[in-house]
Amino acid sequence: MALSENTRLHYLTALGITVWQSRTVEASPVLAEMPSPSTRIEPHSLAVDSWETLRSQVAQCERCTLCTTRTNTVFGEGNPNAKWFFIGEAPGQEEDLQGKPFVGEAGKLLTEMLRAMQLTREEVFIANILKCRPPHNRDPHADEIHACRDYLFEQIALINPKMIVAVGRISAQTLLETHDPIGKLRGKVHHFQEKPLIAIYHPAYLLRTPIEKRKAWQDLQFALRSFEII
Ligand code: URA
Repeated sequence: MALSENTRLHYLTALGITVWQSRTVEASPVLAEMPSPSTRIEPHSLAVDSWETLRSQVAQCERCTLCTTRTNTVFGEGNPNAKWFFIGEAPGQEEDLQGKPFVGEAGKLLTEMLRAMQLTREEVFIANILKCRPPHNRDPHADEIHACRDYLFEQIALINPKMIVAVGRISAQTLLETHDPIGKLRGKVHHFQEKPLIAIYHPAYLLRTPIEKRKAWQDLQFALRSFEII
């Protein structure tokens, strides 16, 4: 389903991308070739018991000290049969309060980025490397990542997505076990547990560095193109 011109301009504007730049996008067949969301999603059976067990394990988790400072665990949300799995770094303040991923300012921009890809939050799955907020939004510590990683691995196994999107440097570096900067990791198809993985700029970074939104738009197009051919 192709985006109408008005809709496309709306999304590009929401992403902070100037209209003149979107002309290069117009030449790309990617969006025009995208099938409608209803044809993209092919639900497969998921062991609901395993999913609910995992959710309750996360809710009760005391594997690291973040359980003493969290308000809520943030399991993740979206379609448990999603083709796209977006993985951020860790909950922030708003996410900790609401128990939902990407609901603060960065989350609003992530939602716009999804819309620009003709995806909704409901049809993808969104979660984080860490299920609890690190105090003052500091970077996750290695022991916290280690303590939490089984939950993410289990989510990936249960969802069985077609494409993983690592949202931001920390997520990409953690999943790919590298110290390479995000500028080097973006624009390539990597693999995590045999699943194709694409790294994109974190929306919080894009809010701080709007000039990079142009590259972010290229990354979203790259993700769509890669999704279609894998
Ligand atoms: N940043 C993240 O990486 N994850 C969230 O859920 C919110 C902000």
